[in-house]
Amino acid sequence: MYIDTHLHLNKEDDVKKIIKEATDANVQKLVISGCDKKGITEALEISSCFENVYTTIGFHPSEVIELTDDDIIWLETLITSNNKVLGVGEIGLDYYYGKENKEKQLYFFKKQLELAEKLALPVVIHSREAFEDTYNTLKEHKLKGVIHCFSGSLETAKLYIKLGYVLGVGGVLTFKNSRLPEVIKTINLNNVVLETDSPYLAPTPHRGEINYPKYIPIIAKKISEIKKISTKDVENITSSNVSRIFDLKI
Ligand SMILES: [Zn+2]
Repeated sequence: MYIDTHLHLNKEDDVKKIIKEATDANVQKLVISGCDKKGITEALEISSCFENVYTTIGFHPSEVIELTDDDIIWLETLITSNNKVLGVGEIGLDYYYGKENKEKQLYFFKKQLELAEKLALPVVIHSREAFEDTYNTLKEHKLKGVIHCFSGSLETAKLYIKLGYVLGVGGVLTFKNSRLPEVIKTINLNNVVLETDSPYLAPTPHRGEINYPKYIPIIAKKISEIKKISTKDVENITSSNVSRIFDLKI
């Protein structure tokens, strides 16, 4: 079975159809990322309705402007009272959009890392144009997790892996001019999990369209070509990585 470790689903989406089509494409487990108040509430609701749907919840760096310490307490209450929550995320730093509130981003990033430590949960990291601060902050915490939508250099990939993180790999791998194929070629596949980030970042040949979790096999096929192994191997290895990181029985 394939597992989509990162997608966004809202109540307005055709949730049943999207999940059914994914399951039919052998994407048997889905992890919804809830990263703002509405998204978190809906991710919990949707995951409670479908046996094979899980969630990670946390505040995205673009949400920090109006965030307070009380919101972190709210988050903790939700995590501890829901058995479908696999981790904290996506959390992190985004200096592409939010350079002006760096301090606040760092504050809530650390707060949520501490929460993950306290609850002994893995984290899902969003980092955009903020490698140094992301890496240095993660280094101060003893956690494991996923570097969501990894698109950095081989050097940064190795540093994250050394810290105990795996790379979330999705549609970007199939894009022209992506440097990800070179990274995938070099690193051990034990350090990779698959994700769509649906509805964003659809893989080629669907680039620019709405993305769906049913497209996970396209990413797996691309990896199998790069690594010169079967798609079955990609399926087995990446799913067992998910099981290890998120403590999920498969
Ligand atoms: Zn996302």
